Amino acid sequence: MKLASIILDIPTQALDAPYTYAVPDDAGGDQPIEVGCAVVVPFGHRQAVGFVIGIEERIAEEWPDGLDPSKIKPIARAVSRPYFDEEGAACAQWLSERYLAPLSSCVRLFTPPGGVPRMVRANAGYWRLEEPAVGEVDDRWVVPGPAFDGFEPRKNAVKQASIVAALRAGELRVAELVAEFGAVSVALKTLEGKGVVRIERRRRMRGFAVPPARRPPEPADGAESAQPAGPSFIPSRKPPLTEGQAEALAAIDAARARETGEVVLVDGVTGSGKTEVYLQAIEAALAAGHTACVLVPEISLTPQTVARFRGRFGDTVAVMHSRMSAGERFDQWDFIRSGAARVVVGARSALFTPLRDVGLIVIDEEHEGSYKQDSAPRYHARDVAVWMARRSGAAVVLGSATPSIEALYACSQDPAWHHVVLPERANGRPLPAIQVVDMAKEFGGGSRSMFSHALVCALAEELGVGHKAVLLLNQRGFASFLLCRECGFVPECPSCSTSLTFHERGNFLICHHCGYREVAPSVCPECGSPYLKKFGAGTQRVEAELRVLLDGMFGTDSGVPIVRMDADTTSGKGAHQRLLEEFAAADAAVLLGTQMIAKGLDFEDVTLVGVVNADTILKLPDYRAAERTFDLIEQVAGRAGRAELPGRVLVQTYEADAAPIRAAARYDRALFLRDELPKRRLMGYPPYVRMANVLVWGKDEPSVRLAACSLHDGLASAVRDFGGDGWSVLPATPCVLAKLRGTYRWHIVVKCPVEDDLSRALLPFFRKRKPERDVNVAVDIDPDDL
Ligand code: ADP
Ligand code: ZN
Ligand code: ZN
Repeated sequence: MKLASIILDIPTQALDAPYTYAVPDDAGGDQPIEVGCAVVVPFGHRQAVGFVIGIEERIAEEWPDGLDPSKIKPIARAVSRPYFDEEGAACAQWLSERYLAPLSSCVRLFTPPGGVPRMVRANAGYWRLEEPAVGEVDDRWVVPGPAFDGFEPRKNAVKQASIVAALRAGELRVAELVAEFGAVSVALKTLEGKGVVRIERRRRMRGFAVPPARRPPEPADGAESAQPAGPSFIPSRKPPLTEGQAEALAAIDAARARETGEVVLVDGVTGSGKTEVYLQAIEAALAAGHTACVLVPEISLTPQTVARFRGRFGDTVAVMHSRMSAGERFDQWDFIRSGAARVVVGARSALFTPLRDVGLIVIDEEHEGSYKQDSAPRYHARDVAVWMARRSGAAVVLGSATPSIEALYACSQDPAWHHVVLPERANGRPLPAIQVVDMAKEFGGGSRSMFSHALVCALAEELGVGHKAVLLLNQRGFASFLLCRECGFVPECPSCSTSLTFHERGNFLICHHCGYREVAPSVCPECGSPYLKKFGAGTQRVEAELRVLLDGMFGTDSGVPIVRMDADTTSGKGAHQRLLEEFAAADAAVLLGTQMIAKGLDFEDVTLVGVVNADTILKLPDYRAAERTFDLIEQVAGRAGRAELPGRVLVQTYEADAAPIRAAARYDRALFLRDELPKRRLMGYPPYVRMANVLVWGKDEPSVRLAACSLHDGLASAVRDFGGDGWSVLPATPCVLAKLRGTYRWHIVVKCPVEDDLSRALLPFFRKRKPERDVNVAVDIDPDDL
């Protein structure tokens, strides 16, 4: 008898285990029951949807312990094609154990965008299956029929004539005919009847314009047409590689050829040509019959980035990111599943698309925080990629100008990790000089202005000769807020433990965590004082101040544009792209933005980069604050002087002596690490320990506190049982953001030596733990910040 392990598609917090069902010999429906399928199974008094994660043939004597053969129920039927294969199932199981996350949440990573079939309650006691709202869509195409050549419509058959004329220029969709000529169904029917045209259904690839002349080629075997007709791309030529690039490429090719899942860290300064290395490494992988998966931080997944890959690999490139619609993502997913896509470029979730025969996994900007998912399963794409590669023999390429301390550490410890350095820019241009401006000295500490004398002069010089400037406002922990000068009152969000951000435009107070908004008060709600001061500098305020400054320099009619890029101006679809195009098209212009402008931008006429406030994240209670500060300065400096024109960088700070700032200004990573690593060792932080952050949250503060404390005791005794030397379970404390959307949040930090398997040690405890009713618990293994 065949037994299947089924994970039910029901949201849960527990570490859910699979259920066992029998695979019936003759399941209803056309789809056989296979690993990866969604199936309908009996569950209690109803039916439920689940996913098959394993199938085994068992004879009665070999049945798993505690399983009563007579109690095993059969699967009702399969309701989808397989979403994943056995490797996918193994990966989901590994993710669940590694990140102590519900297995259902891990399996869900592998299902198609747009959803899976689910059971919905139709009326009392009756459930029915609902197909996902997003799925394949077909277009009706008009193509020439056998009688097309030589056909002459009658004189007064105007629509027929129009259709035939349009068809001469190439095949087209019925929808296009309707758009052009109005109702055409009668004319089409007639033409079809005469064999002049045929109507064909073809799969639509949403998100890709399909001009008639560039429609997808006919599928060879009449099977599904999954070939995307991308927008026309400009084929790009391969430049001869620099010495460093050639060395990196050779290391990657060799790692791939060994098929042992090795990692190559391409540690190359901004503009050193890392992307060119990826492109040629992918080309080699494709030539060897493999496919390649390229991960890029969501924010740098721009049309330009995609164009670089399409320019080399054409229509075999699939793209996957969250700004695409569900339909577009579904079509790309299905294109990958069909096997026609050979290269996938996407955000971290692209790892879980059904791409087969992967020979290369590239993670660009490896140090980026966005590779860590912040909901269950809280995985890190780097670690998942390394696990996948170990299993399949693929090579992993990590690229960065500022590699994470974790990656550098792994290179120093693990012989399967290789470190290749590209110390120079591919075009031979020097990196721009970085000048640190000590704001405390600049104005004797009492300045009103956000802009130092040095930065004002530099702006005047560069913009004056028609060059561009990029100004970075380090926004984390530095939004603008209201403060009562009489009593010190700061308006806070009623649902979150955070001050409200003041927005000049509209005179609003907004919570950036939950979206709560209110009109800014004109007098203090606490003491009635009218002296409310705007504190800090949101991007809007900096923009206003900069406007005054530029008008003073060049006159009000000079029109030096300021392009502001922050969470507010980039929320609309395509807004990010439009702002960048606006900046590119201008002559002298300033791009003012938050972290999102620090990476990936490549404008040759940017000669000045200014960091308005380099030190604001240094003060955040986060063990990575220094590393983030160092990375940010190096990354944003890389936006200057990329082409012929030399660039310069000014870093404004009140902490001019801080090691990450001094070291970044000299591009001296060794100096930074000499300062940072001993601190990490002393304080017990990665890479010298492994950490788990156990999160506890709920609406009722006393129950949350109680649950956190009892969880702490449970963990402490579990760790004692495990007998771990050098383990610690820190006392339960409220999170830094202690209240969020009306929810109270506590956490417990567990630390252990790097050699120990943190997840395996905690797994039995969390498997046994009974969930509380009003309190939620989740584990974050290797948390990104703390
Ligand atoms: P990175 O990804 O390291 O920031 P890119 O791959 O974007 O660098 O390369 C920076 C610039 O140098 C690009 O304009 C690219 O076309 C160019 N480039 C890359 N490799 C070479 C090369 N070998 N010869 C000439 N130009 C190159
Ligand atoms: Zn007051
Ligand atoms: Zn809020």
